[in-house]
Amino acid sequence: MELRIQHLSKKYANGVQALNDINLTIPAGMFGLLGPNGAGKSTLMRTLATLQDANSGTATLDKIDIRENKDQIRRVLGYLPQDFGLYPKVSAYDLLDHFALLKGLDNRKQRKEVVEALLHQTNLYKDRNKHLGGYSGGMRQRFGIAQALLGDPRLIIVDEPTAGLDPEERVRFHNLLSDIGSEKIVILSTHIVEDVSDLCNHMAVINQGSVVLTGQPLPLIEQI
Ligand code: ADP
Ligand code: ADP
Repeated sequence: MELRIQHLSKKYANGVQALNDINLTIPAGMFGLLGPNGAGKSTLMRTLATLQDANSGTATLDKIDIRENKDQIRRVLGYLPQDFGLYPKVSAYDLLDHFALLKGLDNRKQRKEVVEALLHQTNLYKDRNKHLGGYSGGMRQRFGIAQALLGDPRLIIVDEPTAGLDPEERVRFHNLLSDIGSEKIVILSTHIVEDVSDLCNHMAVINQGSVVLTGQPLPLIEQI
């Protein structure tokens, strides 16, 4: 499995060049996209998640053009956006069940199994009937991962998932991500070096819309 980004550029209507000729080849495993605020990470994540179009260039998943095949890509995509909305008065169980139904899991029994397995995997099972409005930041992000994992996606995009988490919650979140599986592509955007050094097999550093370094985390992080 391979995600290939070639000459991807995006200029917003206000003149900001958010992406400037991005070229990256992302293999299966955990890939870290490290960069400061404003570097272009969310723009790139939204583009790969089919929610926004670049002005030029291409991104392909196993040679399938993402822009030209949005429906097909969405079927294999799990996306945790940076600021994902929660429904404060709904329980984790009910919301996950609802999203599972939307994903086409219309067999009740099967859906229950999938939802319960995800709640166990994200360590939220005992809090499954609590309203999401009462969840801590860490619990919310774990719920976001549960939601992103519905439908067994092959491409998982998580945008700044650990920003605002305390160290304990971050470790818990790292453990969850590291269990997801090496046969999928997981792209983790972050401005936190430890997210990448602890978790990722490959990484890129992005700054002002350009890739400034790519490779394996350990030797690279020593250069930063
Ligand atoms: P990051 O996720 O690394 O913080 P973003 O992709 O959000 O970076 O932003 C890159 C640049 O593009 C920033 O200068 C940001 O202000 C700008 N930007 C992001 N979204 C928009 C938008 N919808 N319209 C105009 N400018 C935007
Ligand atoms: P990020 O940390 O990803 O850069 P921001 O707080 O910059 O997040 O952006 C939040 C939202 O506002 C995003 O949807 C982004 O596209 C939009 N946005 C960011 N910068 C601008 C901008 N300069 N003009 C218009 N929209 C923007």
